[in-house]
Amino acid sequence: MRHSGPIRSTALATLLLVLSSCVATQLPPISSQGRSFKPLGDEAKLWEQSREEEAKLLDHVKLYGDPLLDSHLEHVVARLNPPGMAVNPEIRYRVRVVEDPALNAFAYPHGSIYVHTGLLARMENEDELATVLGHEMTHVENRHMLRYQRSVLNRQIGLTVATIAAAVIIANAEGDALGNGEWGKAAALDAFGEIVVGLGLELAFTASVNGYGRGLETEADEGGFRKMSAAGYDLRQAPKVYQVLLDDRGEPKRMEAFFFGSHPRLSERVEDTKKYLAAHPAANAGNAADDSNAFARLLRPVIRDDARLNLDLGRLKIAEGELDRARALMPEDPETHFLRGRLRLAQAAAGADPAGQRQLRRQAEDAFLQSIALDSQRAAPHRELGFLLYEREQLADACVQLRRYAELAPEADDLEHVEDRIQDLERDGHCR
Ligand SMILES: [Zn+2]
Repeated sequence: MRHSGPIRSTALATLLLVLSSCVATQLPPISSQGRSFKPLGDEAKLWEQSREEEAKLLDHVKLYGDPLLDSHLEHVVARLNPPGMAVNPEIRYRVRVVEDPALNAFAYPHGSIYVHTGLLARMENEDELATVLGHEMTHVENRHMLRYQRSVLNRQIGLTVATIAAAVIIANAEGDALGNGEWGKAAALDAFGEIVVGLGLELAFTASVNGYGRGLETEADEGGFRKMSAAGYDLRQAPKVYQVLLDDRGEPKRMEAFFFGSHPRLSERVEDTKKYLAAHPAANAGNAADDSNAFARLLRPVIRDDARLNLDLGRLKIAEGELDRARALMPEDPETHFLRGRLRLAQAAAGADPAGQRQLRRQAEDAFLQSIALDSQRAAPHRELGFLLYEREQLADACVQLRRYAELAPEADDLEHVEDRIQDLERDGHCR
């Protein structure tokens, strides 16, 4: 059914107003009951639903799969976890890193926490990581999913993934019509959002996209700050995480900043955090320096690999920012130079001015050469360089590079195509 724009806007705005003003019921935090905590009847069901959803999710998303990074994140969780929570046998935190460039993190109510590479890649230190993990852990510890589900209003609305998805699709069609609302950044579902909506993962949708409404989100922020200061993290780093989410580098709007909500909400959060800091001056001191260095080292390849994901999505400005950082942190990394070459090619393809395009392609050549100089055994840079040289009629050099590629990647999908080109070059006498 088709409606005119203004009617759809009003309907969506009403729905969102109701969603954002949901009344959540009160329940004591899990940590207050220590070892004796047992989930309530509907809570046990919710955990079961979480486990089922999670199994489906894990079939469809790609995990980053760095065991050292995973164990470091779990170490930070253990450090933030209050004693009353840690002794409880019913709930164990587990952290996984999703290979996805969206700025996102979320937790299932039974303690599974997911952090996207996109969000990690924008972090600079472990205090920022602790801000995100402390927030998610508070959603779990304070039973926010249960409180959210129990609230009468939610049931009256019959809130489903489909309802929200429809709202998002409308918001998408209307561009910036809701620019001042909670859904101001909603313009398109990212790949992760599409999986969540496509599989109908209601809990993941609430946790990762919709959020729990202003009251519970603020509670999660403050609960996170308390965990951070108890663990000796530097709270002054917390506003930086929100600031990162505000900075979208002029890329097309995507539904990815929902971890902390839309722009107006984010600026509020930066202010709220500063107020919290002013009211809790003793909480400012951090002593996480040793761990922070370890975390910063583990982040380096994440930044580079997230750049590859953004490059594949055509988000060239974000990819460029990440590659600049990766290059400064790992100047000798052949993959970083290879990706820089690919970025220059993508920039050339997007450019309109022929001189500029030529310059970008020459920069791409240099980057591929640098990658090869650092590791000559990697096939892909030889292929890219070979094609570039072929285009600008450096045919003898092109032959060398394409032959090298065929040698190094005998199983490659595009080998037949590359070999055709080598044969042309040989026939015309360009290969030595
Ligand atoms: Zn949250």
